[in-house]
Amino acid sequence: MKNTTTPSQVNKKPNIFLRILLTLVLILTLLAVAAGVFLFVINKWYVQIHVLGEDTVHVEYQEPYTDAGAEAVFTGTLFDLPAFDAWSSKYYDFVDSAPAVTVKSDVDTQSLGTYLVSYEAEAYGRIGTAHRCVIVEDTTPPEIHLETIEDHYTLPGHPYEEEGYTASDLHDGDLTDSVKAEEKDGVVYYTVTDASGNTGTASREIFYDDRTPPELTLNGGKKVSLYVGETWRDSYKAIDDADGDITDKVKVKGSVDDTTPGTYTLNYSVKDSFGNKSKAQRTVVVKRIVNDESKASSGKIIYLTFDDGPGPYTEELLDTLKKYNVRATFFVTHGFPKYEDMIAKEAAAGHTVAVHTYTHRYEDIYASTDAYWSDFNRMNDIIESQTGKRSTLFRFPGGSSNTVSANYSQGIMTKLTKQAGEKGYTYFDWNVSSGDAGGTSSPSGVYDNCVAGVSSHDKSVILCHDIKSYTVEAMDDFIEWALKEGYTFLPLSSYSPTAHHGVNN
Ligand code: ZN
Repeated sequence: MKNTTTPSQVNKKPNIFLRILLTLVLILTLLAVAAGVFLFVINKWYVQIHVLGEDTVHVEYQEPYTDAGAEAVFTGTLFDLPAFDAWSSKYYDFVDSAPAVTVKSDVDTQSLGTYLVSYEAEAYGRIGTAHRCVIVEDTTPPEIHLETIEDHYTLPGHPYEEEGYTASDLHDGDLTDSVKAEEKDGVVYYTVTDASGNTGTASREIFYDDRTPPELTLNGGKKVSLYVGETWRDSYKAIDDADGDITDKVKVKGSVDDTTPGTYTLNYSVKDSFGNKSKAQRTVVVKRIVNDESKASSGKIIYLTFDDGPGPYTEELLDTLKKYNVRATFFVTHGFPKYEDMIAKEAAAGHTVAVHTYTHRYEDIYASTDAYWSDFNRMNDIIESQTGKRSTLFRFPGGSSNTVSANYSQGIMTKLTKQAGEKGYTYFDWNVSSGDAGGTSSPSGVYDNCVAGVSSHDKSVILCHDIKSYTVEAMDDFIEWALKEGYTFLPLSSYSPTAHHGVNN
């Protein structure tokens, strides 16, 4: 039996291997199925939404907005392969490739703001959501429209005169009132900023031109006269609209010999920096002294001046002056309004009417330079209404040397005397006093003072007051005496001696 081999024993060996193999396959299959079931059960299923395009979108105000949409997948954590980020849908086809996405949006580009677009998708009872941020904004700057006026130009050195502009913004509307204009180096720069902080700009170059010639004024007029022995003082002014005062550029052709009677012609010309020219001509007549030529041998001249009138005695004085055919000067005031018509009579008789003061109140007129010239102009208004023309001659109350003005304004006389010259006015003091403002109060006293005073001057400017009866009374005798002595009486003009005292305040 030991060496015997039965066929059945030989055939059984392959069956064992087969069984083992099959068993292993079965076990592996069962393990695989179990693993599969296990993985399926522990997987977390969900709907994922992928927003197409940017998560945050900026849209310009009033521009159309089209949403780029979104896609959804039904997926699970275990299938969240790295490739997911690349959004390759083939990885997900095996479940449910694309659940339908519902979009909710209230984006309104007619209104600035931040909006949310919501996306929702559902699969197998799972819901997925996502959103996108849409910002409707205004990034467009306002527009400035510059208006132009035909033939508009700016004088050199002058500020630009606005021709006009408007500004509008797509969102804010009319912003014209918010425009800021700044002029710099011949250019006007405009800026305007809307509520969203956008700034619009514009600029324009200023066109400079000057088409107006300077204004050439001959102080004293186109025809003036003076007497032999007076001093010719030319006075003129040139004001240009662009250059300002160009008096120093005036050229004068011709000359006046104030020692020789005759008619002289002066030609004035001035050019502004743009080449605009102005011309003027003046005739100057130098006259022989005529009031009593036969007796005018000494060449001594008396300028009688009367302050503070007209008053109750002015008419009497005018009669006396007429009696001797003598002309004088009146520095008038508003002290006696009742006699104001005398101003017209003074002028009509050939006397010089000049400004003294309207109020004669030191505390008012010397309070400031403005106050002084205001009072001055008020008096000159009266002179103009009485005589038809304003005077350029005047006398300061108290004279230019007064110190009483220092009580009201320090240094005011220094300023006023300077301004007088700038305004083309001539002020007079006196070198002989009749004494009638104090000390003397009789006709004989006034007479004596006048006689003594003129004896020591070739050209006497006598201070008198025609509101003093004794002064007016004294004139008859004084004029008679002076004419006999060969003196000549003249009214003041801008060529007469000014007899300035000197300024003390
Ligand atoms: Zn006075």
